[in-house]
Amino acid sequence: MEEISNFIKTIMINDLETKRVNEIVTRFPPEPNAYLHIGHARALVTNFELAKHFGGYTNLRFDDTNPAKEDSEFVEAIIKDIEWLGYQPASIFFGSDYFEKTYQYTIKLIKKGLAYVDDLSQDEIREYRGTLNEPGKNSPYRDRSIEENLELFENMKKGMYQEGEKVLRAKIDMSHPNLNMRDPVLYRILYIDHHRQGKKWCIYPMYDLAHPLQDAIEGITHSLCSLEYENHRILYDWVIENCETEHIPQQIEFGRLNITNTIMSKRYLRELVEKKKVEGYDDPRMPTLVGLRRRGYTPEAIKNFILATGLSRINSTVESDMLEHFLREDLKLKAKRLMAVLDPLKIVITNYPEGEVEYLDAVNNVESPEVGSRKLAFSRNIYIDRNDFVLEKPNKHYKRLALGVEVRLFNAYFIKAYDVKYDSKGNIKEVLCTYDPETKSGSGFNARKPNGTIQFVEATTAKKAKFNLFEPLIIDNEADKRSFLERINPNSWNIKEGLVENAQEKFEELEKFQFIREGYFTVDKNSTDNNLIFNRIVPLKSSVK
Ligand code: ATP
Ligand code: MG
Repeated sequence: MEEISNFIKTIMINDLETKRVNEIVTRFPPEPNAYLHIGHARALVTNFELAKHFGGYTNLRFDDTNPAKEDSEFVEAIIKDIEWLGYQPASIFFGSDYFEKTYQYTIKLIKKGLAYVDDLSQDEIREYRGTLNEPGKNSPYRDRSIEENLELFENMKKGMYQEGEKVLRAKIDMSHPNLNMRDPVLYRILYIDHHRQGKKWCIYPMYDLAHPLQDAIEGITHSLCSLEYENHRILYDWVIENCETEHIPQQIEFGRLNITNTIMSKRYLRELVEKKKVEGYDDPRMPTLVGLRRRGYTPEAIKNFILATGLSRINSTVESDMLEHFLREDLKLKAKRLMAVLDPLKIVITNYPEGEVEYLDAVNNVESPEVGSRKLAFSRNIYIDRNDFVLEKPNKHYKRLALGVEVRLFNAYFIKAYDVKYDSKGNIKEVLCTYDPETKSGSGFNARKPNGTIQFVEATTAKKAKFNLFEPLIIDNEADKRSFLERINPNSWNIKEGLVENAQEKFEELEKFQFIREGYFTVDKNSTDNNLIFNRIVPLKSSVK
């Protein structure tokens, strides 16, 4: 992977030079409450690439300290996604594994007089907190003795109170200009089974306490997080300092990635799945990594996209077009270029002998000899795309077939149309053509210029296939204030039934191709030998002007 340069790298270089740290250790800390999406990829790629660059390592840590929303299904999916992107966590940890240690550190805070058990309700705590302009008020329970706090906290742990009856708070400063420092809640009571700990705990640490301690326990040097935590850094440092952890991690924030035409919030993705607006988290229109993979995106395209968008301190919005660009760049030289006809129109070449099939030599990728070559079938009966024929050539810019007009068939011959046949409904059923044997591809024939070059498939050998063509799932329009569920694009998934040349025995799931003039495609997970299904990853050219 090429050099990445960003402000975090500069900090790391400095920290190594000044010996603040001896190596770079990062972590990727997803909450196991959803599938990863392309926005997560920014955090993921950044953490892994930076550590790798400095010869350090990265842990995967499931941030599962909030038992309400977590599920093992997501744990498995996240591990697979990271592997798919080509990264290897040094270790896989769970935040909940540190519950005991976190509890011990908390006892230390209480013993230092820096935490107290509060009986105020959630609403009262909010009321007492004050606002940006007004200082807060001390809780009447703030001055409980250390002994009393130790006992009450122990009772909280034993399950002697109801949810919400008591919380543990840090004792900092109720008039601090940063609201996060006004005696933040450190522990709350929850009687919910934890996906790993079961009923072992009924007190759960808040993120602001748990996260810095987890980083310290794991020896994380640089704890990278997105911008919304900037105002929490002061509390992060307070926890590290007052718990007197042996290791001192540093929190650094970076801007979140947004992509045009793409809504990435977890709530939204879950709603789409639950309301059955999509097939599931791996629907090819979803911005989840499983969705992008099924759609046909490659790990390289995603990584290069993330690296190219750079990393800044502020949130940024990138054109969705850019992701498509990196897919094309990745597949341009790797993919076989085959022929498929998405909307077949029959062509009969009346001067070609009946019952004969010839096999022409065809290279698979003219720009890249290592992609190999194949035999391409040709006969009297072929199919072209319905869009590539009109009765009368409308203007000089029209570079396709028409009556009296000659075109080149990719890798085969020139054909010229002279008549059409109609079905009972008056639609064109077939086009009658002649071909010129002199014009065989590779023969060096250049006496005439054809009116364009089009793809085709040979009728008796081609395989039937379905082609899924996608548009953005949500119609993105600033002015449209309707909820996203009402803005679902009705044309986001179009199915074409057509034909693909019989270029290979089997089309394996996720194998990638360029279908000439149609775009890049992959084989869908539901595809079988008798029912081929291809997903268009991207068209050949950007559709965004
Ligand atoms: P929630 O706020 O619901 O927890 P989240 O998007 O923060 O959602 P996490 O599972 O906590 O989800 O995310 C793991 C990591 O990925 C975090 O460090 C988070 O900052 C980062 N991340 C998530 N979305 C983006 C994004 N769009 N751009 C950059 N980083 C992101
Ligand atoms: Mg989060």
